[in-house]
Amino acid sequence: MAESLILIEHDCQQVKRPSLHAITLARQLGGEYALLLLGHGLDGIAASLVSYGASAVVVADDPALAEPLADRYATVIAEAARKRGAKTILGISSTFSKDILPRAAALLDAPMVTDVVAIEEMEGSISYRRPINAGSMLAMVKVEGERRLLTVRATAFELPAADAAPCPIKRFDFDAASLPNGIQFISREERKSDRPDLTEARVVVSGGRPLKDKETFERLVGGLADALGGAIGATRAAVDAGMAPNDYQIGQTGKVVAPELYIALGISGAIQHLAGIKDSRIIVAINKDPEAPIFKMATYALVGDLYQIVPQLIESIRRA
Ligand SMILES: Cc1cc2nc3c(=O)[nH]c(=O)nc-3n(C[C@H](O)[C@H](O)[C@H](O)COP(=O)(O)OP(=O)(O)OC[C@H]3O[C@@H](n4cnc5c(N)ncnc54)[C@H](O)[C@@H]3O)c2cc1C
Repeated sequence: MAESLILIEHDCQQVKRPSLHAITLARQLGGEYALLLLGHGLDGIAASLVSYGASAVVVADDPALAEPLADRYATVIAEAARKRGAKTILGISSTFSKDILPRAAALLDAPMVTDVVAIEEMEGSISYRRPINAGSMLAMVKVEGERRLLTVRATAFELPAADAAPCPIKRFDFDAASLPNGIQFISREERKSDRPDLTEARVVVSGGRPLKDKETFERLVGGLADALGGAIGATRAAVDAGMAPNDYQIGQTGKVVAPELYIALGISGAIQHLAGIKDSRIIVAINKDPEAPIFKMATYALVGDLYQIVPQLIESIRRA
């Protein structure tokens, strides 16, 4: 069976754990799979990947790849897929892969299926299940051709165990001088936070429109998240109003989360927001409107004013 090639994301220090979930899908597809790392100075990260049952950790390490410029990364991914004869190229559904994998699909002239949540064997070939219409429906998709690119919802697949015998780390050689130069790296803006990553957190506290401004959002949503050791999320309304940064947005056009506990503060429950939270194990909603749609999905509903409830909650959690 042909090899799958899995694009592993990292922050130059360590692997981004959600990208490992794509390994679980590769295992379900059957056959061998290799893990592909792109960047510069990757020895430590490559070494951390050898026990995931891959045939190899394939490392494209060059100063030209120090920053994730989409045109260069796509070129190297396409070249690695061709040289290794990989038929399925996988990544997780993330901003990084949304930028890069469609370009690699174009270079390989191959179809792409995004947001895969399950696979099924139908009429002798694999079909891919993916949400459509803001997650209100699921479609089964079949693709033609010998090669395909997939992005995978990390929340739909388990984190794989790292208990296999170590595999080799193989350097992938390519001609760095011939990589495209159309996109130039100018600067990186990063927000350092002690809070857990939104897509990996066990607890997520999110805020909506009634949080009014940045300071109130931080005090109430941030305060409750910190009391519970959780991450912060937001609705698009809160992001658009400048209360929270863009990368906090959860939903159809934001991030998809599946924490053990999701707490929604002043969130109505629009279908586009629910698309990003519906796999959460427990949903607690605080809303002053007893008819708010979020209550249909909530495990626990608290009808009341968040300005009264949340400070009391923070206080009692801290005391406990
Ligand atoms: C193409 C498209 C994509 C979109 N993508 C996303 C997305 O990815 N994520 C997303 O979130 N949205 C998305 N939206 C927007 C979405 O439709 C909603 O407009 C948005 O989610 C509403 O945010 P909200 O719940 O904060 O605000 P509102 O809908 O205004 O709800 C505010 C809620 O707070 C309650 N409330 C008010 N005051 C208090 C108080 N003091 N105490 C307690 N409760 C109170 C109200 O009863 C109400 O239910 C998208 C829309 C479109 C068209």
